[in-house]
Amino acid sequence: MTTMFRSLAFACAVAVFFAARPVSSQEPTESAPKIKALIIDGQNNHPWEKMTPVIKTFLEQSGRFTVDVATAPIKPPRELVQDNPEAAAAAVAVCREQMKSFKPDFAKYDVLLMNYNGDGWPEETKTAFEKFVAEGGGLLIHHAADNAFGNWDAYSEMIGIGWRHANVGPYLYWEDGKIVQNDAPGPGGHHGSQWEWPIDVREPEHPIMKGMPPVFRHCRDELYDFMRGPGKNVTVLATVFADTKYGGSGRHEPALMTIDYGKGRVFHTILGHDDSQCKSVSFIITYLRGAEWAATGKVTIPIPDDMPGPDKPAMRKFD
Ligand code: ZN
Repeated sequence: MTTMFRSLAFACAVAVFFAARPVSSQEPTESAPKIKALIIDGQNNHPWEKMTPVIKTFLEQSGRFTVDVATAPIKPPRELVQDNPEAAAAAVAVCREQMKSFKPDFAKYDVLLMNYNGDGWPEETKTAFEKFVAEGGGLLIHHAADNAFGNWDAYSEMIGIGWRHANVGPYLYWEDGKIVQNDAPGPGGHHGSQWEWPIDVREPEHPIMKGMPPVFRHCRDELYDFMRGPGKNVTVLATVFADTKYGGSGRHEPALMTIDYGKGRVFHTILGHDDSQCKSVSFIITYLRGAEWAATGKVTIPIPDDMPGPDKPAMRKFD
């Protein structure tokens, strides 16, 4: 099957699926101006090229967003590195050269959606990104995007916590009914094996979480733990107990967070390791509402009828 045919078949399947869904009386009104979103991808140690079409589709089908994609220069595939190191080295050099002109026009958008964990950006791009968020732009950090840019201080502040060195800041987790910070030395960022986690809501009145079940089950996914960072202006919306029987920290780890950065709003989700997990209702609804909140400070996207409760995850079909 050609790529074009595959994308077309995928788009058709999605259109049919959404058309068949009952329309809730709480659907966002057609008259509300659409939020302009930009997905940033191109490099990630996760399958960004499979995740972006799923994310773009559910954003557009919500009726609330228009979506563009900024794809950073793409590195050569691992096979080329193994089979033809010389050609791979040449491709890496081209990629580095192209990166010098990676300058998306962030100011055209209401919210930036990070599906990126890769090479550093040009200084001009970093400055524009910082300015965009500090002056009130929305930002969404998805899974490995909190591994990115370990030496970029402003970005570390925007993610709050993530995969960061000990000198960047403390661990942050839920203990005895509140969020605690722990300055203990040690690595920042880890995960055990994948399992179906129950997500515990800690801020039920926050617009993103309002109306969700107090506990809802996420699909089998990779649970980050031992995350640390500056931890400034972080509100932990939901946590997951990183059970030691799956190799976890034994702590209640932040899974959904918001961070205030200047006048900007950041929504940070650790869910969504690959495209299959991006099709879970728990990922989709928290992502949609988080993106809407980051862009506008409000949430109008309703909790769907297939929202999971504590026992079983819920998945949607996209192809
Ligand atoms: Zn992952």
